[in-house]
Amino acid sequence: MFFAEIVNSPSLVGVNDHGSVPKADSSLNPCLFTSLHVTLLQNGRIMNKRRGLAGYGKLLHDKGLVIASGGNVSARDGSRLIIKKRGADMSQGRAKDYVCVLFSETEKKKDILSREAPFHVACYDAREDVGAVVHTHSPIMMAVAEKTAILSDISYEFQCVVESAVPVIGYLKPGSDELAAAIAGEIKQGANAVLMKKHGAVSVGRDIEQAYVRMIALERACQTFLLS
Ligand SMILES: [Zn+2]
Repeated sequence: MFFAEIVNSPSLVGVNDHGSVPKADSSLNPCLFTSLHVTLLQNGRIMNKRRGLAGYGKLLHDKGLVIASGGNVSARDGSRLIIKKRGADMSQGRAKDYVCVLFSETEKKKDILSREAPFHVACYDAREDVGAVVHTHSPIMMAVAEKTAILSDISYEFQCVVESAVPVIGYLKPGSDELAAAIAGEIKQGANAVLMKKHGAVSVGRDIEQAYVRMIALERACQTFLLS
């Protein structure tokens, strides 16, 4: 309905000063309408992804995996990155706290993006199948990172959901290129999640739902590890 209203708008079909409608330029209008239709579909898809990120971000907060403005989630939409705004609090579950930028402009617009955007971008660069990234600051995961160099075969659920061993990397400054390179290196080799000493964890998935479920499975696997 909305699309029909727009394409029939006088401003688009070109009402002249006398109130009559000029003959349509058949060489131009189909392109204009097709372009407009694609833009509307893209905007709708991006809004749905922003809502999805907001919803799963709130779940991560409510489960205690992040507090305050800590942690972040993102999704890929073709040539665009959708990610939490810098300083936003995921407990609010608001779509407006997630921004959409071209990957080619992430450096130029870094001040509005989450401080940890570099490793999100690096994960998308590392593997084409990565459609979403989740990052949390779970105390339980940090405790496990102090006790092992890799987490694997801890449970059937872990194997089925995470679908890879989870390596532990040493502490590197949050937001740094060094941290981005270390995480992306493990993702490129097939890891679907990484534990970071004194920091937390990152998981990836084809979409935000899979990246979220992998993060929850990793949290549960870490609980099992500590109880073993
Ligand atoms: Zn962090």
